[in-house]
Amino acid sequence: MDDVRSLASLTTWKTAVVDVLFGGAKGGVRCDPKDLTEAELERITRKFVQALKDCVGPDKDIPGPEISAGPKVMSWWFDEYSKYKGFSPACVTGKPMTLHGSYGREYATGRGVVLATRELLRNEHMGKIAGKTFVIQGFGNVGGWAAELLELYGGKVIPVSDRTGAIYNPEGLDIRSLKRHLKAQPPFGGHLSSFPGGERLPLEELLSLSCDVLIPAAIPDVITEEVAATLDCKYVVEAANGPTTPEGDKVLRERGIGVLPDVYANGGGVIVSFFEWVQNQQTFRWEEEEVNRRLDRKMSDAFERIWDVHTTQKLPLRTAAYVLALRSVTQATMIRGFD
Ligand code: NAD
Repeated sequence: MDDVRSLASLTTWKTAVVDVLFGGAKGGVRCDPKDLTEAELERITRKFVQALKDCVGPDKDIPGPEISAGPKVMSWWFDEYSKYKGFSPACVTGKPMTLHGSYGREYATGRGVVLATRELLRNEHMGKIAGKTFVIQGFGNVGGWAAELLELYGGKVIPVSDRTGAIYNPEGLDIRSLKRHLKAQPPFGGHLSSFPGGERLPLEELLSLSCDVLIPAAIPDVITEEVAATLDCKYVVEAANGPTTPEGDKVLRERGIGVLPDVYANGGGVIVSFFEWVQNQQTFRWEEEEVNRRLDRKMSDAFERIWDVHTTQKLPLRTAAYVLALRSVTQATMIRGFD
């Protein structure tokens, strides 16, 4: 319950930081999908919708993808909700393209992470992504797309990990081959550890590898006080929600490691979820270039606002992002009045 509450609060600040006209909410079912069959996962999703159908909806509360909940789960949600309330594509985002999804939503969070990193490096006078080294924890939707796009811009992703292990190549992993490998059936693929383009690395060594940018893109609370003391990077870009504990954050500040916070860095997902919702309301699909251009604009504008508070008020980037978010939510609350 605490996890979900804190994610709901993060979403409130995130939508305010990236200036998306959604509020903040979160919900979930406590289960581990890896222990479930697809049919069980579908039944759980449909039951969840049945229980929540009067509290959610296109003008109330619009779910989107999260850890272990991708386009399939979103499709079941759309289908089940529509059974009760009539055809309602805008009731959920992150749907596949064949079911009223938006171009660019699948990779939006990873793309947003890369745009955020580009802005950070540029403003820190560190140059471009090309030639920089990246360590990525988590190779699911967010980590996988961030890795692929970083590689496309000339970055070197030296290790990636998932819950089964980590793989390392100091020259930079070939991310697209790795993805093809993961899609193949064992014994020809299927696991990170059997990828021929890198060496196996113990999971616990991944975060402290030397690199320019560390991107946690898996689960919360991985950069603890102890882990923060061992990091060997210049920056942390928080692709996951809540990857750094407050104690870990303090150590990173003391060590001069810059942190681009989750409330901004992974905001690309909610931005394109919002675009999907707008398109569903309009029953009109935007071109992929249009989605990507608008995402780039939103991420760049939000970065500029955070950077402005960071430099003028001499605050860490995380505090600067919260200052912006609180200011925006407070102003909206005050101007609305209290009666
Ligand atoms: P996902 O389920 O697609 O992938 C999660 C990945 O993390 C998998 O590769 C999994 O094996 C790996 N993982 C799990 N436990 C691990 C561990 N202990 N060590 C290393 N890797 C581990 O999930 P996702 O959608 O990519 O979400 C990842 C993070 O990004 C989450 O924190 C989520 O809250 C956040 N996020 C996701 C979105 C989105 O649009 N999907 C948007 C904003 C934030």
